[in-house]
Amino acid sequence: MSISQKRESSGKTDESARDLEIMARSLGAELYGVASAERYAEEFPDKPQASRYVPNAKSVIIIGLPLSPDLWASVARPQMAPILSKGADDARGGQAKRRPPMGAERFFVDPEQQMLTNELLKIAYKMSWKLNREGHKAFYFHPFKPEPRFKTAAFYFMPAMYLAGMGQMGLNCSIITPEYGPRVWVTAVLTDKELPAGIAVGPQYLEDCQSCLVCVERCPSKSLTGQGWKNVHGCASYGCCGTCLAVCPKGLTV
Ligand code: SF4
Ligand code: SF4
Repeated sequence: MSISQKRESSGKTDESARDLEIMARSLGAELYGVASAERYAEEFPDKPQASRYVPNAKSVIIIGLPLSPDLWASVARPQMAPILSKGADDARGGQAKRRPPMGAERFFVDPEQQMLTNELLKIAYKMSWKLNREGHKAFYFHPFKPEPRFKTAAFYFMPAMYLAGMGQMGLNCSIITPEYGPRVWVTAVLTDKELPAGIAVGPQYLEDCQSCLVCVERCPSKSLTGQGWKNVHGCASYGCCGTCLAVCPKGLTV
């Protein structure tokens, strides 16, 4: 079922809202969802708000693309890449010789993420111009741009994904989508255009996680608490390896 079929609606057909989704999908967006900026502020008041970027913001549009499951299988099996255990391992005092250097798990997936980043930026750029031409403001983000000078992320996509009905939070601190599990790459377009918003699919945290815990057990830096929190410094110090996304059994896996 597409997101548009699940939207809260006054009953009136919003042709221009549908046009925006059709445009995004025709440009390649596989995932599309809308959260109300007002609901975001009510449910997640401690996060940076859409109104910081767009005065009187009404909608948070999330667009996304799935990550390739066969490439991500290599993250869970880093021995597929014959990387010498030296350099980074030496920096760890020679510990964990069985593993490749920290972050090397990402060897095969990084180029795809860079490519998907560019694809999403192009789609978001074109959507923003469409909104501008309709007389609306629009602001879009880079999908993932670490910036140590910012105290927090510029904007948090996952709360919007949850409110938009695109999935629920997993213990790997990612949104678990029904179609692709946590292996998705997304960005957000904020606008002052009122769009029909999606409906959350259930509680914020995925109930199935309690009987799984695979990501918590497989995290090489033990950064996942099992209570829905992540030690971001521990994760970053291990190169944000992505193992917790690769091993999740939800969505299309290999
Ligand atoms: S929390 Fe970080 S270090 Fe742990 S598996 Fe996930 S990406 Fe890797
Ligand atoms: S690996 Fe298991 S516990 Fe972790 S997010 Fe996926 S379903 Fe939840």
